[in-house]
Amino acid sequence: MKDESKKFVRWRREMVEKQIASRGVTDPQVLDAMSKVQRHLFVSEALVDSAYGDFPLPIGEGQTISQPYIIAEMTQSLDLKGHERVLEIGTGSGYQAAVLSRIVYKVYTIERNHALFLQTRKLFDKLKYYNIVTRYSDGTQGWSEQAPFDAIIVTAGGQEIPSPLIQQLSTGGCLVMPVGGSNFQELLKLEKTKDGIKTTNLGGCRFVKLIGQYGWDR
Ligand code: SAH
Repeated sequence: MKDESKKFVRWRREMVEKQIASRGVTDPQVLDAMSKVQRHLFVSEALVDSAYGDFPLPIGEGQTISQPYIIAEMTQSLDLKGHERVLEIGTGSGYQAAVLSRIVYKVYTIERNHALFLQTRKLFDKLKYYNIVTRYSDGTQGWSEQAPFDAIIVTAGGQEIPSPLIQQLSTGGCLVMPVGGSNFQELLKLEKTKDGIKTTNLGGCRFVKLIGQYGWDR
């Protein structure tokens, strides 16, 4: 058991060094969070030995947990300091939310698939991630009761950024989301300032579909 956990610590260190830091992610909070969150607990038992590999993995219900580097890049792009309340759309396995929860004050995460929602909410309780709040609903509509958010991260791809999410972002806040077609998207970073909205393209990516009122039909 002790050797077992040592193995995971080593795999995590290697993941952070070889896949993340070496590709230019420098934010110490992101590197620290990713060297601590036990990614292997967010995948099914059969995939535990692949959990720290340089690729996405299936999480059931036709969905995937992103490649570690993409998680790191998206998290870094939010320019987090630590006091933030962050909204995530697409809870999935819960891994991205767990990484965020180690950096910020509170994470609000929405999942539209009921089986994944239940499974992941249970996991957060078991692993004592008490600053993550979950909700079962269509995340393209945001979470108006808890808005505004200091940062928003959408972990599924749509044809455009849902307007409710832009409305629910604080002035001075950042939103990151894959935008494009059903197979390929560009990772867009939107910054809301008092002078208006600035959008930056962070590069190509591949995500599952964001399905909902302001996303794909199905
Ligand atoms: N952040 C997740 C990635 C999961 S994949 C992780 O770390 O594992 C994307 C997830 O988005 C899927 O679970 C999918 O069911 C969910 N999703 C798609 N459209 C959604 C919507 N409109 N609202 C909430 N979740 C949605």
